[in-house]
Amino acid sequence: MQQCFAVHPLCLSLKRIDEEGRLVIACTSCRMMHLMTTDQVVARVAAVPLSGEVTSARATPTARELLETCLQTHPVAVTIRELDVIRDNVGLRCGECRRMFDLQVSVFESHQKS
Ligand SMILES: [Zn+2]
Ligand SMILES: [Zn+2]
Repeated sequence: MQQCFAVHPLCLSLKRIDEEGRLVIACTSCRMMHLMTTDQVVARVAAVPLSGEVTSARATPTARELLETCLQTHPVAVTIRELDVIRDNVGLRCGECRRMFDLQVSVFESHQKS
């Protein structure tokens, strides 16, 4: 995953969030599926932090829910902005809603596409 991002970042495309809350990323170049288990998702518009995982108001969607909505309605607009392997941070950007997502990743997995 880290190598993919360094070598061919444009080949990575976000697919969805699976039932276990993992981010599924497909790499068209090496035909791998990368799974990222995310601990924390933070969404922000420009530089203003929006919400973390803990939100008191039930009405406001969590950052994770926002990201899921983005991936369901306009997956092509969501791109990987940065990948920090030292801090296990992944930055995503949604061009459609102009939102930035910062994800804290606990586990990186790679699977051969079946
Ligand atoms: Zn790759
Ligand atoms: Zn969006």
